[in-house]
Amino acid sequence: MAAGSAIQIPSRLPLLLTHEGVLLPGSTMRTSVDSPRNMQLVRSRLLKGTSLRSTIIGVIPNTSDPTSDCDDLPSLHRIGTAALAVQVVGSNWPKPHYTLLVTGLCRFQILQLLKEKPYPVAEVEQLDRLEQFTNQHKSEEELGELSEQFYKYAVQLVEMLDMSVPAVAKLRRLLDNLPREALPDILTSIIRTSNQEKLQILDAVRLEERFKMTIPLLVRQIEGLKLLQKTRKPKQDDDKRIVAIRPNRRINHIPSTTEDEEEEEDHDDVVMLEKKIRTSSMSEQALKLCLKEIKRLKKMPQSMPEYALTRNYLELMVELPWNKSTKDRLEIRAARILLDNDHYAMEKLKKRVLEYLAVRQLKNNLKGPILCFVGPPGVGKTSVGRSIAKTLGREFHRIALGGVCDQSDIRGHRRTYVGSMPGRIINGLKTVGVNNPVFLLDEVDKLGKSLQGDPAAALLEVLDPEQNHNFTDHYLNVAFDLSQVLFIATANTTATIPPALLDRMEIIQVPGYTQEEKIEIAHRHLIPKQLEQHGLTPQQIQIPQVTTLDIITRYTREAGVRSLDRKLGAICRAVAVKVAEGQHKETKPDRAEVGEGEDCKEHVTEDAKPESISDAADLALPPEMPILIDFHALKDILGPPMYETEVSERLSQPGVAIGLAWTPLGGEIMFVEASRMDGEGQLTLTGQLGDVMKESAHLAISWLRSNAKRYQLTNASGSFDLLDNTDIHLHFPAGAVTKDGPSAGVTIVTCLASLFSGRLVCSDVAMTGEITLRGLVLPVGGIKDKVLAAHRAGLKRVIIPQRNEKDLEEIAVNVRQDLTFIMASCLDEVLNAAFDGGFAVKPIVEHLNSKL
Ligand code: ADP
Repeated sequence: MAAGSAIQIPSRLPLLLTHEGVLLPGSTMRTSVDSPRNMQLVRSRLLKGTSLRSTIIGVIPNTSDPTSDCDDLPSLHRIGTAALAVQVVGSNWPKPHYTLLVTGLCRFQILQLLKEKPYPVAEVEQLDRLEQFTNQHKSEEELGELSEQFYKYAVQLVEMLDMSVPAVAKLRRLLDNLPREALPDILTSIIRTSNQEKLQILDAVRLEERFKMTIPLLVRQIEGLKLLQKTRKPKQDDDKRIVAIRPNRRINHIPSTTEDEEEEEDHDDVVMLEKKIRTSSMSEQALKLCLKEIKRLKKMPQSMPEYALTRNYLELMVELPWNKSTKDRLEIRAARILLDNDHYAMEKLKKRVLEYLAVRQLKNNLKGPILCFVGPPGVGKTSVGRSIAKTLGREFHRIALGGVCDQSDIRGHRRTYVGSMPGRIINGLKTVGVNNPVFLLDEVDKLGKSLQGDPAAALLEVLDPEQNHNFTDHYLNVAFDLSQVLFIATANTTATIPPALLDRMEIIQVPGYTQEEKIEIAHRHLIPKQLEQHGLTPQQIQIPQVTTLDIITRYTREAGVRSLDRKLGAICRAVAVKVAEGQHKETKPDRAEVGEGEDCKEHVTEDAKPESISDAADLALPPEMPILIDFHALKDILGPPMYETEVSERLSQPGVAIGLAWTPLGGEIMFVEASRMDGEGQLTLTGQLGDVMKESAHLAISWLRSNAKRYQLTNASGSFDLLDNTDIHLHFPAGAVTKDGPSAGVTIVTCLASLFSGRLVCSDVAMTGEITLRGLVLPVGGIKDKVLAAHRAGLKRVIIPQRNEKDLEEIAVNVRQDLTFIMASCLDEVLNAAFDGGFAVKPIVEHLNSKL
């Protein structure tokens, strides 16, 4: 040990002048650096230096007046401590400064000041901890008695402290392990001493002198501690007495100080909290933990940050609905009526939900699958979830998972973190206050992943009926039974749901609505709801079905009804203004004006334009009730139509065909355009296409090239090799949206066939289907959404793969009646249906026959 403590410091040291205390060898000090000289030292020596030597500095106690810290170097104290800069922390607030953590190594004395600016550097001589010094057995012998005496006092002092504090226990061990000559310095820096006393110890270069000077300091500290312990005991008794007489004091109405009151209140609160914990119905495990925590809380001073944390935790534990639940009032017939009343259409979904509820009615502790509604936005997934809660008479809570990428969002943070809190599941339970709510996990397909873990993995535990009866939130740190919670999930697409999570759920597809369904939904649900929200009555506003259809076809293009709902809201707002204005005017009892107004109204009706709200306003009269919303009014309120049926216009040139695409937002029609130009047989594809789609394009070209002769397709120079001296460009509009999938195959073939034959594709036909190199048409997914999109766009015929015929059964009868379906099993059939008068094959076969 003695050899290990030998130190060799550089002979030149930069000097740090400190006002804040005296650093002694073997101790550590934190000092703030803000004088220009010291800042310069930190910057150029500590922050730029790379070697260990460069972090050794000389710390000199600055005995001059700190306020007179001017440019001139004050007279330096002769002896200082060489120190190792362990940490440098910079800050700009409230002014630029550094905080240095320095550990003292050994004493040195300044021999000569080498330079003063920008910071002082001196030639120094090391005074202790030198090799020859630490090995001097002689000196140890001489000092034997003195050092033994010192050691005894040191031990006595340390043992008077609370040994359960780890730092004290460590100090006790150090006393035995450290070389004796290091003890005076270390103990002086620990016990209560003035800077002046420390300075004297620093100046005591001879060890003997140092021991002699430190012993009185130790003795003083021991006496002080003894005195403190004596006074503390009766004080504790006093405390008890105070607690005991407190109730009396209240009765006697002796005014207490506010501080006392606060303390008393807090004490009462903790007692109340304990009472609540004991009477709450939490699990045994949780109760044990809570009682332990409350015991800790009682001992903790309130100023400790942990006090508030522990208290919050305990309050949450008490608030959680451990055993509190609502009683299910499930009656299937009533549930059916309620679901039908709340939602129009969605037969498949309602049927499955009723089945699910029926099983629950028969077997209460059902560990059934988690239902997951998958469909485009605005088709009523969330609102069905809400209806399920209503039918069961349960509380409803929605947990939005979109964008959640931290697993502690689901499972909470451990309480060791600052600002830790429980996850969304436990928070939700606290909000609803019962342990059997309906939790709607919204947008499970939009869960993210990040460095903070995978929230989907955390959800697995929540959703697994086998595991979730003892779900452990990191914050709670005890299991909470989630098995009574009814989880329902929603998503736009299953493609991005992690497979393990998907496996836990039963997927129920909720397709988009047909126009007729939307009209019904609007008139049965959306319009009455909007009227109520805007304080209007059917006597004040009338929206005929044709207007709704206009809104659906010309102002919205969506699978669900959300933007339809918004448009209806906009109409209601506009009408509300008119009605309010009207009411205001009606309150002015000007009969003549009203009479005149009646004339005007008649006049307007003759003009067949009473409906235009702006016109009504121009007349400065209360509008005629009910205000009829027709197409003119619609234009006034919503502006010019956003979507026009542009299908026939776009198909006025060869090289354009309509495909059908599926997106998470529902089906879409998609125009595929092709053009050709002189070139070297290159194919250019644009419109953000995925790999599969690019392959479809190559397949289509290859098939057409191999069948060019059969169909008499030639390029510009009349050659059957379609790519000979020709470049082809295929474009899929709405270039910002990534498109992928094989189902555009038939559309690309049709589009290219149109380009090379110069014939127009029929403007009322849309198509979907995957192709093979041999010209077969293979089935694809999303037929229902695609057909609905074609129907929305006003197309009349849809070409689908033969093997998708079965999917048509799911489509509403009225849509099926409006459309003609062409089932194609090969590309010949597709082309024949896509072109007026068919796309005849040249009878090469006949020719061959005659030869035979
Ligand atoms: P999602 O969760 O599918 O995105 P929402 O449940 O939020 O959609 O539905 C949007 C709005 O449309 C809600 O106000 C809902 O009441 C209404 N809605 C959707 N489908 C129907 C329906 N079939 N019948 C009645 N209202 C519906």
